[in-house]
Formats: sequence, structure tokens, C-alpha cells
Amino acid sequence: MSAAKKVIVVGSSHGGYEAVQQLLMDAPDTNIQWYEKGDFLSFLSCGMQLYLEGVVKDVNSVRYATPEGETAKGAHVFTQQEVTSVDAAAHTVHVKDLKSGEERDESYDKLILSPGAVPASLPVEGKDLQNIYAMRGRNWAIKLKAATVNPDIKNIVVIGAGYIGVEAAEVFAKAGKKVTLIDILPRMLQLYLDSEFTETLEDVVSKHGITPAMGQTVQSFEGKNGKVSQVKTDKGSYDADLVIETAGITANTAWLKETLDVDDHGLIKIDEHQATSAPDIFAVGDATQIKFAPTGGEARIALATNARRQGRIAARNALGENVAITPVSGSSALSVYEYKFASTGMKEGTAAKYGVKVASVFVEDTYRPPFVPDDAGNAPVRFKLTYDPADGRVLGAQIMSTQDATANINAISLAVQLHATVEDLAYADFFFQPGFDRPWNIINIAAQKAVAAMKTEK
Ligand SMILES: Cc1cc2nc3c(=O)[nH]c(=O)nc-3n(C[C@H](O)[C@H](O)[C@H](O)COP(=O)(O)OP(=O)(O)OC[C@H]3O[C@@H](n4cnc5c(N)ncnc54)[C@H](O)[C@@H]3O)c2cc1C
Repeated sequence: MSAAKKVIVVGSSHGGYEAVQQLLMDAPDTNIQWYEKGDFLSFLSCGMQLYLEGVVKDVNSVRYATPEGETAKGAHVFTQQEVTSVDAAAHTVHVKDLKSGEERDESYDKLILSPGAVPASLPVEGKDLQNIYAMRGRNWAIKLKAATVNPDIKNIVVIGAGYIGVEAAEVFAKAGKKVTLIDILPRMLQLYLDSEFTETLEDVVSKHGITPAMGQTVQSFEGKNGKVSQVKTDKGSYDADLVIETAGITANTAWLKETLDVDDHGLIKIDEHQATSAPDIFAVGDATQIKFAPTGGEARIALATNARRQGRIAARNALGENVAITPVSGSSALSVYEYKFASTGMKEGTAAKYGVKVASVFVEDTYRPPFVPDDAGNAPVRFKLTYDPADGRVLGAQIMSTQDATANINAISLAVQLHATVEDLAYADFFFQPGFDRPWNIINIAAQKAVAAMKTEK
């Protein structure tokens, strides 16, 4: 199958890892050069919370691959070697060895880029003070872990109440610190959940000692002896021995802007084959745009799930196949103390951003039949199904419970991807067993309610 004799892969996180695995699987004779500028191959930021909370003990185990293991499989692994530029016409990359300082050019037949993103840093006064951290990658993981047990660090301010910020807040509250969680948006986790869910979560985090400070814009960091001591917003001042910035990411593409077409956010433009604007160069992961299934348009959704799928598709196309990626629904899940939630696709809170008109139904039910006592694994479940009021097309959903009902969201993600309607879901065949759920799955119940609502509105 392979016409590619030499494939260079840049970046060793989710996207790069998957590309290499596919190349090894489909064309093990390919000369695969895999570059990572950091000193550690394939760190998994998704596992950071488990490490910081002590569930996973060794930071070096939070990875998928080791240089030795991948070398044994047949890849040529280069860590602490940065690809600093690409000459698309000559089919070469320029590589800098960060240990020796030596530089060289390497040729490629196909190039797969997964350079990812770096945490955004707020451009406010005091931004260069010490003890302003981020939460991404192994180096930050080690620093954050040390901060959890540092008795001099009592007050933590987390900026950005998306899922990474909420993870950070929970880690430090559990470590006994006083945590303030700031966001410019009016509600925490606003891009993931509508208010029927976030109101409860704000109560939950408050109960556990985290102060949500929503709808506030950070204006400056104040310092003492070179270290941050306070965060000032347009609405208040918060003591801070440590600030953790989790307010967005910046695509790691400044070095590629002369070579590839990028959008206003610096995201690499790709087609459905992961091909960039330059011949024989593919790009995947957080550095790229991705097609959003509910709208069919390009979106900015930084998730490992996307990077992994893109990595596989890019590698197959680099080897000469002609496969297109399926648009994604942007599905994610998180636990916030005793609650577990998941969401996918469009929410009422995000529909306006995409210029889409939506309708939703909200259902509160029990996880298992009502006769099953709570102490035997029952609990209320909240579910919200969002659809197109014109034709009933399923556009997204959100679910939350203290029991784990999150897998339902995968069914909705598939429904969004396959352009299913609420009619399709109303009597869809889902299993029933009192040990797991109710005779009517909560998806059926919500879809039946949506069908009824559409009839009344006609
Ligand atoms: C705390 C946290 C928790 C998360 N949890 C989840 C989760 O539960 N589920 C989920 O789906 N997603 C999660 N994510 C998001 C997920 O980690 C990212 O979407 C994913 O890592 C993106 O992978 P990537 O390959 O695009 O790039 P990145 O992970 O950004 O990695 C890029 C790699 O490329 C290297 N690199 C960059 N430029 C060069 C160069 N020029 N030369 C050589 N090497 C280079 C970098 O050093 C880096 O190692 C989480 C993220 C964080 C920070």
C-alpha cells in the first residue's frame, strides 16, 4: 500500500502517537522518524488530575509509549529534538538538537504534524511574577504536585473554569488549599453544560470549599518579593500564593505560518483527509481545525479524542489511502466531586455562537427503577436533549448524576454524527435491566418528549 518510504512525525502526544502506531501497523517497513522537543515521550495530560491527587503515583507512568518500546517496534525516536521549520518545496524539515545545539536538515516523503498547543497566558500587568503556573505537560505536572504539598501555598486562584480549571480547583481543594475559581463567563463549565447542570455544580464546588467567582475579568496580578500575591479582577481582589492559568490554549504553529495556511486563531487549515495547504504535509490535533458534526462547519475543539482519530486518518492517507475523517461532536466527560457529567454537540448556551436555532427538552428521572434504594446504587439523573426545531435533527445532549450515566452521551454523539432525529431516538432499542437502568432509557424518554413538543408546536 505504501508509496511513502520516509515519514516524519512531529509531536509525541495524542496525535503524533496515533499516527506512529498506524504507520507501524500498516507499513512497518516505512522509515518513521518521530520528533519530540521535550525530554519525555508521550506524556498524557488527561491523566494529570489522577497523578496530582495521588491515585497514580509515578508521573513517568502517565504516558503511552517509551522511546525504548517504540524503537523496538521500528520507529526512530528523537527526543529533545525540535523541528524548527519546514521547506515544503524541498520536502525537508530543519531539526535542532536541543542537547547538543547541532542542527541539520532531514528529508521526508510525507510529513505529519501534531505540534499541539500551549496554555494561553493572560497579557496583564504582573504576568511575569513567580508562581503563575499552567496545567499541561509533565513539567507543569511536577511543579503542581510540589505545590499541593507546599505549606507556604495556602491560597490558590485558578483562572478559567473549563474542565481543566475545574480539575485544578478540585485537586487543590482536596489538598486543603483555599481555592478561588475565576472565569470571564457567567457560569462555570459554560461551554460544556447549560444552567440546569452548572447551578448544581457551583453549589457542589462551594460546599467543598472552592469559591466560584464567575463573570469577572482579570485585570492584573499583584506581587510581593517577585511572587504573585493577589489577583485583581473588575469585581474584586483575591489572595493568591499560586495562580493556575487554564483560560484557553494557543496553537503551537507560529513556526509554520509561512509554510501552511492557518486561520485567525493560528489553527492549521486541513481538509477531510488531514491534508494541509502544502503537498505531502498532514496536520492533526489541537493545532488544527476540526469539522463539527452538528453544523458541518469548522470548529475549534481541543480534545485528545479528536487528535487520536485525526492521527490515524493522517497516517493512512500518508501511506496512500484515501480516507476521510468523520466530523466530531465534541464529546467530553468529567467528574466534579460526587457528580459525573458528559456532554456532546450543541448546547443552548453555545448555539448562538454557531448561529444555530435549537430547541431542547429536559428530563429528570432516576438512574434505576424508583423501587431501587439510593444506597443500592440509585440516584436522580438529569438529561437534556438538544435538537433542530425545524426537522427534529439531534444536535447534542448533556447528562449528569452522582451515578455514572455518562455513556449515554456516546449514543447521542453517534446520533448527531448520523443525522438521526428525535423520532429515531424515541423508540430506539436500548436495553433494560434494573441493575443498570430503567425500562425506558432516559434517551427514549427525552426524545419522546421532544417529539410531543414538536407536534404541539406545529
Ligand atoms: C489537564 C488536561 C486534561 C485533559 N483531559 C482530557 C480528557 O480527559 N479527554 C480529552 O479528550 N482531552 C483531554 N485533554 C486535551 C488533550 O490533552 C489534548 O487535546 C491533546 O493532548 C492534544 O494532542 P496533540 O497531539 O494535538 O498535542 P499536544 O498534547 O499539545 O502535544 C504536542 C507535542 O508536540 C511537541 N512539539 C510541538 N512542536 C514541536 C516541534 N516543532 N518539534 C518537536 N516537537 C514538538 C510538544 O512538545 C508536545 O509534546 C486534556 C488536556 C489537559 C491539559
